[in-house]
Amino acid sequence: MKTLQAWAFQYRTVLFILFLLTGVLAAAIIVQSYAIVQVVDGVFVQDVSFEEISFFLVILVGALLIRSVVNYSNARLGLHLSLTVRKSIRNDLLSKWTKQPVSEKGRNQTGEKLTTLIDYVDQLDPYFREYVPQVIKTTIVPLAILISVFIVNPNSGWIMLITAPFIPISYILVGLKTQQKSDRQLAELSFFSGKFLDILQGLQTLKLFGRGKEQATVLKETNAGFQKTTLSILKIAFASSFFIELIITLGIGLLALEIGFQMLVFETLAFAPAFFVLAIAPEYYNSLKELGAAFHTGRGSLAAAEKLKEELDAKEKSVKWGSSPLRYPVRLDLNQATYSYGGEFTLQIDALEALPNERLVIIGPSGQGKTTLLGVLAGLYDPLTGAIVVNGKERNTVDESSWWDQTTYISQHPYLFSGTIRENIEMGTVSSDDELKHAIEASGLTELISTLPQGWSTAVGEGGRGLSGGEKQRIALARSFLKKPALVFYDEPTIGLDVKTERILSQSMESLSETATVITVAHRLPTIRKADKIAVLEDGRLVAFGPPEHVIRENAYAASLLEGGDDV
Ligand code: ADP
Repeated sequence: MKTLQAWAFQYRTVLFILFLLTGVLAAAIIVQSYAIVQVVDGVFVQDVSFEEISFFLVILVGALLIRSVVNYSNARLGLHLSLTVRKSIRNDLLSKWTKQPVSEKGRNQTGEKLTTLIDYVDQLDPYFREYVPQVIKTTIVPLAILISVFIVNPNSGWIMLITAPFIPISYILVGLKTQQKSDRQLAELSFFSGKFLDILQGLQTLKLFGRGKEQATVLKETNAGFQKTTLSILKIAFASSFFIELIITLGIGLLALEIGFQMLVFETLAFAPAFFVLAIAPEYYNSLKELGAAFHTGRGSLAAAEKLKEELDAKEKSVKWGSSPLRYPVRLDLNQATYSYGGEFTLQIDALEALPNERLVIIGPSGQGKTTLLGVLAGLYDPLTGAIVVNGKERNTVDESSWWDQTTYISQHPYLFSGTIRENIEMGTVSSDDELKHAIEASGLTELISTLPQGWSTAVGEGGRGLSGGEKQRIALARSFLKKPALVFYDEPTIGLDVKTERILSQSMESLSETATVITVAHRLPTIRKADKIAVLEDGRLVAFGPPEHVIRENAYAASLLEGGDDV
């Protein structure tokens, strides 16, 4: 609960107001019982006139009103506390994820991230909305009642004091018993949500492979497991409620017995104090019971809080940046640089350079580290050792926004957002129609757009649904033409490009390289042939580097590729 307490203590003012209001509530409860006793004693025992008891009736109504107002205010304050804490945690999560280095982005499933952001954060609600106000209430109200009972009739005070701990003890025991189960319930929920979204995203693939039924069974089984855990927690909770009601009934019974003896056998107690104790005792036990119920719901927040803290505290290797602006044109050097994802693969480059406005092409069979090298050069990952040098200075001295303002990275599968083609090309910037037309022309999209009924205002689906792989690539290219970058990193798709797109891509790289240093991971002959320099990777190491004719002489793989004419 430490994490949750620490979050609650950030809002001391709210806690202080809750304390104050609860003090007023405790006073109202005592005054209410006192007024009831005076009215009943006046009417039935003392037989006084209505005028004499009317004062206490007014007090009674006043106390009831105050109780309602305070209860309402406490509920509002609890809600306010819960909303504020949840909003702040969501902001922290979102700002952490947006700053997360690209290497960390694939760590969780999208579904799991959504569960963390929505469900886990919402599971904190019972703790702040119910448990915190209830803990404050249970600290003040029973204590105040106990003091008033000790003043009126100490024997009853002792009974109440001795029976009280059984209620929290039984809740703690139940809490301990359900802890493991509720942790498991949360893990199952998270797995279920992740799996569900995953299956939903891949529904088409599953259908095409005729594997829909198997996945439905997996979902059914996961769901059944979650149901079973939830029900077993509820079973324990119901059993514990029964036990607690029993303790309360016994406590009040014991009090009645003791009061009865004092009044009738020993005749040491008058009606008014005896009735006061009996009238206020249920309030005492109820507020202890309410704490238990709130404790149960609050306990559910615990596992979510741990998970959220873990996510918020997770230390990630973030890419370091500096403050110098990136100057045009750009020369990049890698010196003794290494990078590893933590597994067996290690990228190790002793020396590699890309001169200003040069076209450097990286080739090599699949899995040799080409994309990783591109990522290191593009500033997606910091090298573990060695350095990337930009125009003579280490890359980590360059200002991050200046770098990304002048850089384009086209991945194998560029992401398209749901929106119009224009919005997807502009990506939040504003351009004139002429600039847009030029970018569309340069990336070979004119023909496609002219066939669309609404031209560039045609909407595309999330992830570029409705467009072919080649068309998505060309939209990504159009983004680069609009941006006019000083650095272009391009991870050519291994498969699935039509001849037209291939031709356009290689022409585009050529025209982009007039004003930019272009580094491409290439699989196609036209791209490789037009390179100024070629870097051949094998098992994470540079095995050949230089102008194409030089590399052909040095490296059999490159020679077979360039002479044989096959795509890689
Ligand atoms: P290429 O682009 O030459 O096909 P990559 O750079 O994509 O090769 O991958 C090189 C090696 O690094 C492969 O063994 C691959 O499995 C591994 N790898 C790539 N990306 C990751 C990642 N995000 N986490 C862990 N290992 C990775």
